[in-house]
Amino acid sequence: MSEQIERIKTLIIGSGPAGYTAAIYAARADLNPVVYTGMEPGGQLTTTTEVDNFPGYPEGIDGPTMMVQLQQQAERFGTDVRVGMATAVELSDEVGGIHKVTIDNDKVIEAETIIISTGASAKYLNIPSEQRLRGGGVSACAVCDGFFYKGQEVAIVGGGDTAAEEASYLANICKKVTMLVRKDHMRASKAMQHRVNSLDNIEIRYNTEVDEVLGDQVVEGLRMVNNQTGEKEEIAITGLFIAIGHKPNTDIFKGQLEMDDVGYIITEPDSTKTNKPGVFASGDAQDKIYRQAVTAAGTGCMAALDAERYLATIGSAIEATARWD
Ligand code: NDP
Repeated sequence: MSEQIERIKTLIIGSGPAGYTAAIYAARADLNPVVYTGMEPGGQLTTTTEVDNFPGYPEGIDGPTMMVQLQQQAERFGTDVRVGMATAVELSDEVGGIHKVTIDNDKVIEAETIIISTGASAKYLNIPSEQRLRGGGVSACAVCDGFFYKGQEVAIVGGGDTAAEEASYLANICKKVTMLVRKDHMRASKAMQHRVNSLDNIEIRYNTEVDEVLGDQVVEGLRMVNNQTGEKEEIAITGLFIAIGHKPNTDIFKGQLEMDDVGYIITEPDSTKTNKPGVFASGDAQDKIYRQAVTAAGTGCMAALDAERYLATIGSAIEATARWD
């Protein structure tokens, strides 16, 4: 472990739409933010192709390009964007206290405010054929990618609220949606189940799991297996949506920040405040309901405004320019 310690006003952890939007606002408010990008610079959007639902792009934009542009916009106002992963945190309980974040198990950043925008990762089945066809018809976001399967036959895996909601969304666009539920019942709320059951073009297969996703370069079909009888069946589809839950990337904050049982950081209503003074959470790390790029950007903005107000209240002790101790 080296002795490098740097003290700054605002540290932003994560580089998705939440992190970069927080950076744009924080930089414009002279908080001299430093962004650490994490393992997947640009976040989940860099794994999608076309983004058609972010306001301001009438022709759509591909996810990686949009994230580069967000980064450039944050840098235009002086954000210091660095590649690195927060590997440990020590959060202060005191108002005006200094929070310590270790980067890459080496360097320590001391920050008066931290904006957490570490995002969430969609869970996958982790079977080889699914992994091979990710981006070739296998997606974990119906709202992002469903449009590309307009008029086609698709399948969705999962029996929770997300799967039910996404199946209904897909049913509006696609010819047919086959829904694979591994138990003999769904976990989704009754209202969502009712919605799924009321749509004629959704076929629900209970006790059913994916045996193999078929296709060479792109998805061409699905072999399903009934986990009670072992019976297998193939169907022709062009898209497979995985909706078996997300995992927020919040493990390093466990034991220090209040979270729900899945790991979503709990924030105060109408705010991004966590239970630690000066620590704010935005984006998918704290939002299990909406999980859209635009809502993440919105909460990133909120977090920067909350950080700015907090720093004004405590009277920041740190000079405008980051310095090395
Ligand atoms: P959930 O954890 O609630 O559901 C996951 C579903 O995927 C379950 O049916 C589970 O099956 C199934 N599953 C998990 N692993 C596998 C696997 N390996 N193979 C096949 N199936 C699998 O996740 P959601 O994303 O649906 O919801 C997360 C939270 O967000 C919930 O609290 C939900 O209520 C909430 N939410 C609310 C919404 C709303 O209010 N509008 C919309 C979306 C989500 P099993 O039941 O057998 O474990």
